[in-house]
Amino acid sequence: MDLNILNEISNLKKIKNAVILAHNYQIPEVQDIADFIGDSLGLARKAVELESEIIVFCGVHFMAETASILCPNKKILLPDLDAGCSLADSINVEQLKEWKKKNPGAVVVSYVNTTAEIKAESDYCFTSSNAVKIIEAVPENKKILFLPDMFLGAYVQKKTKRKLDIWPGECHVHAAMTYEEIKNLRDDFPDSEVLIHPECACGSEAMYYSEKNNDKEMHFLSTEAMINKSKETDSKNLIVATETGVIHKMKKLSPDKNFIPINRSATCKYMKMITLDKVLSALKNERPEVKVAKDISVKAKTAIDRMVSIG
Ligand code: SF4
Repeated sequence: MDLNILNEISNLKKIKNAVILAHNYQIPEVQDIADFIGDSLGLARKAVELESEIIVFCGVHFMAETASILCPNKKILLPDLDAGCSLADSINVEQLKEWKKKNPGAVVVSYVNTTAEIKAESDYCFTSSNAVKIIEAVPENKKILFLPDMFLGAYVQKKTKRKLDIWPGECHVHAAMTYEEIKNLRDDFPDSEVLIHPECACGSEAMYYSEKNNDKEMHFLSTEAMINKSKETDSKNLIVATETGVIHKMKKLSPDKNFIPINRSATCKYMKMITLDKVLSALKNERPEVKVAKDISVKAKTAIDRMVSIG
């Protein structure tokens, strides 16, 4: 690792009263220079708590937008504006407005992986860690549109036993994960535990077989909960079904354990766009900045506040 870059980043952070937040899927070098690492909800909460004037958000565009909405007086820098999200791109605001017109009175619950415009048209926002609680908070008699992840939607529908209208969107990384891969790895590591993110395409099938076989070693968890579980469990072999970046933190917390990604190529090209050079450049130039227009920000904040408060 280039020590000059590390020193420059560290000095600029002090001079500019800046803080670096990094998502769990960032490359290891970026995670290692971050002041805080977490999932979408954890980073949104952290952005609000911080007193610093500048936040360098090492994640993707919708996350920086969320931080901008929650902290309108802070400068939110995203080191690469092209760091987007295939899941957020699976619905646009015109499509949502059309659905709402056809379903007056329905409640729209949107994953945090959506654009600010979508959040502004939503009643609630959620993350994978509080999706079930959010649905349970909606009155029983209300029709619900759950968007945009169809695999997470199927999981939440099963957990809450509520009928949901589920948008047919997906994340290209999690959609590629199959139950077959889990099954093969479990044959290779029969004493393993499996940590599965509910955005994965393999989720429904894995849940079906885990219930059918009363398999207690298969866990469906948000990213942060996966990390906590990996630390707490006594199992030495852990099969990980989500973006592989999360394994960096898991290994740091439990260096004696063996972490096996279900697919080594399960990496998010958008998350990996953030590099140390780009972080340094963002700090030096105080751009690119992500700033959400006030009218959208005010509307989106109501849905985001509900997400942050319903832990
Ligand atoms: S892993 Fe998927 S959901 Fe997460 S940022 Fe990348 S494309 Fe979006």
